[in-house]
Amino acid sequence: MVPHLQSARTAYRDVPLYAVDRDPCAIDLSDNTNLWGMPPAAAAAAAAAATVATRYPGVYAGELKAALAGYLGVEPDMIVTGCGSDDILDSAFRAFADPGERVAYPDPTFPMVPTFARMNALVPTPIPMTTEWDVDAKAIVATNARIMYLCSPNNPTGRSLSRAAIVHIAAEAPGIVIIDEAYAEFADRSDIDLLARSDRLVIARTMSKAFGLAGLRVGYAVGAPALVTEIEKSRGPYKVNRVAEHAAIAALTQDRQWVAEHVALVRENRERLRRAIPNALASDANFVFVRTADAPAIARRLRTRGVAVRAFHVGFRVTVGPWEMMEACLAALHE
Ligand code: PMP
Repeated sequence: MVPHLQSARTAYRDVPLYAVDRDPCAIDLSDNTNLWGMPPAAAAAAAAAATVATRYPGVYAGELKAALAGYLGVEPDMIVTGCGSDDILDSAFRAFADPGERVAYPDPTFPMVPTFARMNALVPTPIPMTTEWDVDAKAIVATNARIMYLCSPNNPTGRSLSRAAIVHIAAEAPGIVIIDEAYAEFADRSDIDLLARSDRLVIARTMSKAFGLAGLRVGYAVGAPALVTEIEKSRGPYKVNRVAEHAAIAALTQDRQWVAEHVALVRENRERLRRAIPNALASDANFVFVRTADAPAIARRLRTRGVAVRAFHVGFRVTVGPWEMMEACLAALHE
């Protein structure tokens, strides 16, 4: 049981703290960050923190929105930024559903989703994935949930959801559909073009993965201006700090070649790693998912050998990085 203060909000009675094993480990392949580091122009901007951090950032990060709009080829009024895409999801849940309403999502998926639902007094509604690791489009639409969350490519499986299922859900959902494209840069396909067909669709993205800025916490969402304004109201002012804003703009305007080269390396190493591990699924992300019922025990044993992976009930997830790290992981797995 979670300890609960009597005077606290009742909806929080059973909300656990988000617990992840983040103890330091020699080779950390547990969090899908960019294991090559931060791109050079962003790193230089972050190093100049002392010259910018005495002032407040933009209230809603207007300059960053302009840079993101340039990256995606959309208008700046279609973008809302946040303190990581975590903040975007949390703010969107709060903006679009009233307490007691449901958030439906395919299971397994990003484990923070039920947490953010509970933090906003919403009801997490998991729908088992199909045997092909796709979203069960009919079942999720049948929940009638106020918010439907789809992660594509999905964390932890690494597989993109099928285009047909996403199109069906975007057309039939009664409320808001959020597509989490945190790993879109590593995939062959994005569903961002669907925004043109829907005013109830929001696409969440992040600079924590391909852009290497996880510690600076920069996320964003794209959608119809009326939708992103609601998320912005719920998010509140000054959420992207000034150092992060500067570094993110530098990455978007000067580091795109570096990012593309490292995405190509991820894709190459991902295929090599997948071929080397039995039961590894094909992946469209910067990690590989290995099916096994023994995941927690395997993850514990790997940790004693200096390699951290992330365990789930149905398997474990390995972040793809430089090949020396992948070799160390393979050696620890074979032991
Ligand atoms: N969505 C998905 C699917 C993720 O895997 C993650 C990070 N693990 C996030 C969102 C949150 O990323 P951030 O807050 O760093 O943008």
